[in-house]
Amino acid sequence: MSSGVAGERERVHVLSLGEMAEVERQLEPDFEVHRAGDEELARLVAERGAAIRAIATRGRDRIDASLIARLPALEIIANFGVGYDSIDLGAAAARRIVVTNTPDVLDDEVADFAVALLLATVRRLPQADRFVRAGRWLQGNFPLGPTLRDRTVGFAGMGRIGKRIARRLSSFDVPIVYHARTAQPGLPYRHYPDLLGMAKEVDTLVAVVPGGAGTRHLINAAVLAALGPRGILINVARGSVVDEVALIEALRSGTILAAGLDVYADEPRVPQALIDLDNVVLVPHIGSATHHTRGRMGRLVVENLRSWFDGRGPVTPVPETPWPAAANRGSVDGPPRGAPVVDTDRLVLRKFTPHDAGFILRLLNEPSFLQSIGDRGVRTIEQAIHYLADGPIQSYARHGHGLYLVVLKETLQPIGMCGLLKRDRFPDADLGYAFLPEFWSRGYACESAAAVLRFARSSLALSRIVAFVSPGNAASVRVLEKLGFSFAGGTKLEPDASEVALYELCSIEEC
Ligand code: NDP
Repeated sequence: MSSGVAGERERVHVLSLGEMAEVERQLEPDFEVHRAGDEELARLVAERGAAIRAIATRGRDRIDASLIARLPALEIIANFGVGYDSIDLGAAAARRIVVTNTPDVLDDEVADFAVALLLATVRRLPQADRFVRAGRWLQGNFPLGPTLRDRTVGFAGMGRIGKRIARRLSSFDVPIVYHARTAQPGLPYRHYPDLLGMAKEVDTLVAVVPGGAGTRHLINAAVLAALGPRGILINVARGSVVDEVALIEALRSGTILAAGLDVYADEPRVPQALIDLDNVVLVPHIGSATHHTRGRMGRLVVENLRSWFDGRGPVTPVPETPWPAAANRGSVDGPPRGAPVVDTDRLVLRKFTPHDAGFILRLLNEPSFLQSIGDRGVRTIEQAIHYLADGPIQSYARHGHGLYLVVLKETLQPIGMCGLLKRDRFPDADLGYAFLPEFWSRGYACESAAAVLRFARSSLALSRIVAFVSPGNAASVRVLEKLGFSFAGGTKLEPDASEVALYELCSIEEC
């Protein structure tokens, strides 16, 4: 299990499985990083295996039972990417090794990309590009091609990324349906429990399910035949999800019209038969491959390792991991959640439960939180549970105010907290909020704070609400000004603390 606290622990040995220079750079000040190239892995494991307590992986090399067995001190495998089908979860779980991935931080990027791949495939953009470059336009116009109009898009998988793609596609006015093992009643799309049944009803299929044994060749010859001669397949999931041989045959024979592929059965080797076909768009597994998103994924890998070895638990453990995943992330399948207090277009504000301890631990230790709001001294999961069950949040609630967890309505993922606090030295209610950095600049602070103010107006007898802002926190000032607060002077919250700006919302009735 984890040991020590930040700054005190001995240097932990981490095995890095390649091509993560930025992750390694961030780890190096605190960890002993062993970088493995293909030919070095066996040697490295033989020489250093006994000391290695963590693996950071891009998911290209399989982490199988035999590798895990050769690393007796292994505690955590941090996967760079949301799909972790390259890891033998059974072997990891048998040793109580925690596995983490990088969910959420890449959803929008992959969704943008999937839409781009769909449009490129339907409108034959790479083919048109080749046409111009080859000087063929001089001989005549590019032939008319297929359209997105009148298509029905079926999703194989409607999770975090699937929902983002579907939301984008909704603005293209195409009907959307989905297949997954479980129906999600809150969604506006028809659910098909059977993929073949759905494939018969749609002509465009977007695969965005996890890889692994459970989805191997989910999209097979029968599914492709059901899609029919107008059929288009977009695969941004994993190569293993599609029977590649059947796909090549379906593309060759006209059983389906075209495909757009980001992923392959044996990456980076792409079958020559696919390369030779003109009705397929081939890209090299680049769904999340931007500086912005790969940076966020890398930071989450590093955060998972730091958090684990600082004794704070993993930040984003996968559901199959021995760690109680639900303690860290509010998953749909998680434990009973606190009652919703208010909701907005995109958010639900609800009471905390002890299961939110992992999230609160992460939030309270975010460098931005520590800098602008201060150190709450919560360093372990136990302290976080205490903070939620018996600490300041409860005391705020007892005062008739309350600090609430803010979760995304669509995914139920916790992103921050917001509420009215009661400070001993001030008779007024203090509006406060904090969000994980990846959810800044999207209007969530305004949306949740406005909801809290509406709630306060309707259910609490408050004459005045104030807010304290650290010097230089221009983003918070903008939020408060939008909500109708105005600067009311500087003040000190504690006798020995530095001064903060006090903003005041004069009349709660006006907000
Ligand atoms: P989620 O776990 O949020 O969603 C997965 C979806 O697939 C759920 O709707 C789930 O529903 C469904 N699903 C899982 N197993 C099956 C099954 N056996 N049959 C049918 N449906 C199934 O994952 P994300 O949306 O975050 O990511 C999806 C996948 O996308 C990743 O696992 C990864 O492989 C791939 N990906 C690819 C990228 C790229 O660069 N091309 C980048 C990022 C991700 P239910 O459990 O109800 O069946």
